[in-house]
Amino acid sequence: MELKEMYREVVNEHNLYPAHRGDMENPDLVLQGVNPSCGDDIYLQLKLDENDIVTEGLFNGSGCAISQASADMMLDLVIGKSREEVLKLAGSFMGMVRSTASPEEIEALEESAALESIAHMPARVKCATLGWKTIQKMLGNIGEATSEQD
Ligand code: ZN
Repeated sequence: MELKEMYREVVNEHNLYPAHRGDMENPDLVLQGVNPSCGDDIYLQLKLDENDIVTEGLFNGSGCAISQASADMMLDLVIGKSREEVLKLAGSFMGMVRSTASPEEIEALEESAALESIAHMPARVKCATLGWKTIQKMLGNIGEATSEQD
């Protein structure tokens, strides 16, 4: 399958049948992420266990197909991973959409790697990274006394 076709198929699939869309009871962490340039809005909810492993993740919100599919794929990938691993994957994703990630980093993104071609569509990069930026903020601040403003 060609990369472009694969990208389209994956985005459609995750929009029609999102695995992680919904609202969670008693999440440990919640954060809203918005991308005003497109009108994308996601509300991310996570549960972490005592070892900082993401045990559950859901998102809700509205926006374009890419933003919603990317968030769904991201949750597929991060559930079961540690905070550190998630932050590393987020860094790889950011690198991928800037065409600076190594092949190993891209491979580690599994299905999210289908969004690699976003790098050639600068207007859509913020849609694809919305979920990842939101989770970076959520997990990057754990245990830190200061909360940074964006
Ligand atoms: Zn968008």
